Amino acid sequence: MALSWQMEVIRPERKRGGFRFALFDFDGTLSLIREGWQGVMKGYFYEELSRAPLAPRAGEAAVRSSIDDFVDLNTGKQTIYQCFSLAEEIARLGGTPLDPQVYKDEYQRRLLEQVRHRISALERREAPPERYMVPGGFDLLRGLRDRGVSLFLASGTDEQFAKHEADILGVSPYFEGRVYGAQRDYRSFSKKMVVDRIIGGNDLKGDELLGFGDGFVEIENVAERDGFAVGVASDEKNRGGRVDEWKRNRLIAAGADIIIPDYGDAPALLKYLFGEE
Ligand SMILES: [Mg+2]
Repeated sequence: MALSWQMEVIRPERKRGGFRFALFDFDGTLSLIREGWQGVMKGYFYEELSRAPLAPRAGEAAVRSSIDDFVDLNTGKQTIYQCFSLAEEIARLGGTPLDPQVYKDEYQRRLLEQVRHRISALERREAPPERYMVPGGFDLLRGLRDRGVSLFLASGTDEQFAKHEADILGVSPYFEGRVYGAQRDYRSFSKKMVVDRIIGGNDLKGDELLGFGDGFVEIENVAERDGFAVGVASDEKNRGGRVDEWKRNRLIAAGADIIIPDYGDAPALLKYLFGEE
């Protein structure tokens, strides 16, 4: 039986209702196309890191837990940052790291191999977009648009992939061209830059900004500008309406104002956010 949808309020005192702009992370927050990426990344990174000279002495558990730490801490940033951390760890364990871009390309190759069938099914319209969407996502996007909120998408995935996947998932129309992602020149993009652009470019007060994310970085970026941060502790694999406890703890530490498992009851979420109860 499906669980009833629940929202956990972390900061009941936060001002709500005046939102004009909303920033979304993509993978794990709206899209499930890349579900399983953490396992692909961590498995591949372990292959690389376990070859470092001092890795046997550190032991498998310690090596794996260091990978867990730096992958999760950088979740939401561009993939290259996780590859920078891998290179640093390889050096720390006495190895000679390759250019981090090499790790990124290999990770990307492995991940696409694993998720290509989902992308093709969506491209050929053989799968309904809802299958690869966080539950209730379309209801939420529609509800925000109906309330006059301008929507932005910022992804740590390379921009051309993020744009294409937003297209085949059918969410692009809600963002009206405001879809941003990782760049080859990683210095030219960050979610923080997007937040700054939204706030600066629109003469916005923090409490007019709403952010949705399942990763540390986007929640931190929104919270530090005084935006209202919705932590989406999505269970990407099971989609059972259950909160992923690991994500929940990370999102609260990053500054989330509320925690939800998904958008399973989008009307209740919208009512809360807009003070319509
Ligand atoms: Mg994410």
